[in-house]
Amino acid sequence: MIENLYDKSDAGAWRAKAGSNEADQELAERVYTSRLIGQNRDLLMHGGGNTSVKVERANLFGVTERVLHVKGSGWDLDVIEAAGLPGVRLDPLLALRQLDGLSDEDMVNVQRCNLLDSTSPNPSVETLLHAFLPHTYVDHTHATPFLVLANLPNAEEVCREIFGDRLGIVPYIMPGFGLAKKAAEVFDSNPEVEGLLLLNHGHFAFGATAEESYGKIVGHTNEVAKHLEMTPPTSLRERKPADDLSVLPVLRGVIAEQARDVDAPMAVFDLRNGDDAQAIWKRDDVTALSTRGMASPDHVLRTKGRPLVLPESVWRKGREAIVQAVQDFEAEYRAYFDREAPRAKEPKTLLTPDPKHAWIEGIGVVGMGVNAKAAGAAADLAEQNMRVRMVGEDAGGFYPLGETDQFECEYWSLEQAKLGKGTPPRFQGRIVMVTGGAGAIGLATAKAFAAGGANCILVDLDEGRLAEAVAELGDWHQTYACDITKPGAAAAAMNHAVHSFGGLDILVSNAGSATGGALIEIEDDAFRSAFELNFFAHKEFSTAAAKLMRLQGRPGQILFNISKQAINPGKNLGAYGLPKAATMFLMRQLALELGDDGIRVNGLNADRIRSGLLTDDFIRERAKSRNVDENTYMAGNLLKREVEARHVGEAFVALACSERTTGHVLTVDGGNTAAELR
Ligand code: ZN
Repeated sequence: MIENLYDKSDAGAWRAKAGSNEADQELAERVYTSRLIGQNRDLLMHGGGNTSVKVERANLFGVTERVLHVKGSGWDLDVIEAAGLPGVRLDPLLALRQLDGLSDEDMVNVQRCNLLDSTSPNPSVETLLHAFLPHTYVDHTHATPFLVLANLPNAEEVCREIFGDRLGIVPYIMPGFGLAKKAAEVFDSNPEVEGLLLLNHGHFAFGATAEESYGKIVGHTNEVAKHLEMTPPTSLRERKPADDLSVLPVLRGVIAEQARDVDAPMAVFDLRNGDDAQAIWKRDDVTALSTRGMASPDHVLRTKGRPLVLPESVWRKGREAIVQAVQDFEAEYRAYFDREAPRAKEPKTLLTPDPKHAWIEGIGVVGMGVNAKAAGAAADLAEQNMRVRMVGEDAGGFYPLGETDQFECEYWSLEQAKLGKGTPPRFQGRIVMVTGGAGAIGLATAKAFAAGGANCILVDLDEGRLAEAVAELGDWHQTYACDITKPGAAAAAMNHAVHSFGGLDILVSNAGSATGGALIEIEDDAFRSAFELNFFAHKEFSTAAAKLMRLQGRPGQILFNISKQAINPGKNLGAYGLPKAATMFLMRQLALELGDDGIRVNGLNADRIRSGLLTDDFIRERAKSRNVDENTYMAGNLLKREVEARHVGEAFVALACSERTTGHVLTVDGGNTAAELR
């Protein structure tokens, strides 16, 4: 049962926040119930579903206009704000209904031309459907129970059984003008209906108030679930611990390998391995269900029409068997394109034929995307679709859109028009692990990579500090708390990278700590523990990362934070400089040994950066002992300017971008003749 979470006082609070304008208040309540819908994963998944409200607003001349606020593209309902529901003048939209036909390009243009705010995102492709229905509030979802119903072979019959004539039934038409017109016709034939079932697509409900429309969405969905005797999923979105995930980095590399360009990024993975994600493997119709198609048309844009299916008997055989499975998948995809493209009105460009989600026996469901966000959306839809297929098949049959309708959505002209436009961010698709990631330099480095589109994993000792750091870094990054000097820590961290994102592209082995003291005085334990952190942890993490990169079989990178101490000793810093010197040699040795794998290994020699290592107290003391003020001390270099953590982060990024550089040390110290490499 989906709970109706509408709360009068919450709704009132949203309205109150919106000020005194009535239209703004309606819009605020629209935001409130849109979020209620978006935050329930059984009601709504990424991209699917949209909401609207019709209001009246005075324009600049004081003339009242009817305005439709409808979800804009790029916004997700769970976190939507008023700006995510752009206002469109309603009357020009209604005038379109008299047309016999309207191209998608013309439809988008009319919608944009009638925006109240010219900078708004594009209104939803289902805008006209919202416009043509007369109700103040209109809600549209692709709820799981409705997707089961919408894809039954006798969906109309079952719908009538459940709802009588309370729901209108709209045949499948691709979203756009044609669907809007047809849905309006169905509505007009019985204006008493509470909502619409869109065959092979989803559900609409509406009402005079936000509460009424939302209540119908929830109520109708529960009625369908009850009729189908659906039990709520118990483990959606679950990612539970797993020891052996080595198939994932292999698969990640194999898929990228088919694209030929050796430097092209690999996909980011999102693993779901709760019981629900494994349920399909208890059935004997896995192959049949995998090839039927997706439960709703827009799913195909994020997931392709079918999953890559990897039974345990296949992936256990190793890389070659996985290569074969991926090549078979891609050959089938190309054949589908070759069958369908000639039927289209205009020439179509083949999309990349690689899978966007996988069912892996014994592992789970994997979503794949150009970054973690896209992979998460694909995984959400993949999980939902797996469930819809199983429930639907047992309730009479899962019969989604045929191949031709699927192709029409996947190769929709407006989607095709986006191809090749814009350059993806430099580190999109790159998974970057930073040790010491909660510290000043580590976090600045992660920020520099994240700004380029990377998904990062911050590794550090303390969970609390990691939580603060990742909050600063933003969404779609991960943390891993461990003592990097403990045996097994590196392997466990690599497993975490695979578990989180499917693999690793760049390791920034950054964590370190200075131990002071003259060599003839320092305790043996302290000296050895300095080596544990400043050398052995680097060695363990870099070799573990290299092993993982070898599984992927694609280029990767290892970057070390060394230190100027490695070549320019400071008094009483021997316990720091000695292991750092060994780390510099480690960098060179690995560059030599990993070149064949396309793994580049480089390092940075930074100096005098404010951080956990060089604290404000320490700086004060140093400056005092040299008889200079703190700023002069910090700027004690050839450039006479302080070197900040962000400069180190940017230098790591510069090394990462230097595609034909390996075995190199870059200094980031503002210039220091004594610390120059020669
Ligand atoms: Zn839809």
